Amino acid sequence: MMKKFLLSLAVGAALATSAQAATISVGTEATFAPFEFMDEQTKQLTGFDMEIIEAVAKEMGDDVRVHNMGFDALIPSLQTGIIDVTVAAMTITPERQKRVDFTDPYYQSGLVIMVRKEDAKKYTNFESLEGQRLCAQIGTTGAMMAKRVKNAKVTEFNSITEAFMELKTKGCTAVINDKPVVDYYLVRRGDETVTTVPQVFDAEHYGMAVKKGNKALIEKLNEGLKRIRANGVYDKIFTKWFGAH
Ligand code: GLN
Repeated sequence: MMKKFLLSLAVGAALATSAQAATISVGTEATFAPFEFMDEQTKQLTGFDMEIIEAVAKEMGDDVRVHNMGFDALIPSLQTGIIDVTVAAMTITPERQKRVDFTDPYYQSGLVIMVRKEDAKKYTNFESLEGQRLCAQIGTTGAMMAKRVKNAKVTEFNSITEAFMELKTKGCTAVINDKPVVDYYLVRRGDETVTTVPQVFDAEHYGMAVKKGNKALIEKLNEGLKRIRANGVYDKIFTKWFGAH
């Protein structure tokens, strides 16, 4: 009798904890509009990624707290438990999959080459960049691609905005970066001094990453993503940031 009572207490306690809202600690690098950036007016972090993780957490009954850090600090911060998940326009790559676990893809992206407008006829593709100075954000797939250009001298910056500046001030010939981020910069800033070359690279997929083996969180996030895709919330957020699709 006593045993049964204790057992039911234990089950009750377990149910109570699992129903409690958890605060998910999210790591991002907030200079990557339109995915994650500081809204100048509200001084709040905003963007597609921020709204997606908030919607996923809300759907699953959780809260989020966002930590802004360098892109190259994200995976180490997962491994040391400073954050639970990265939501940072992070591409799912085989190399990263060895170090962290990813959710299902939540956004399809790609890389593009950005050059100064006066150079647009000279540098039209990856091969034409041979031996040039190239800029990218540190630890990104853009930086990895830049390093594959023959004899290129690659400079990696903490934020992509610094790489854009370096291109404009002629410190490098081209920037390699995620296409939606470059497109957003060109349209939003109305910057007419730079442009993209027509060649677009392989599709990349963004995923949220967690510490290797954190199966419970992956399952929760995938379930949340599935639900916001099914109930129209994902589409609403997508349309807000990228227009109809
Ligand atoms: N998608 C790119 C990558 O994973 C860039 C991400 C970023 O700079 N936030 O490496």
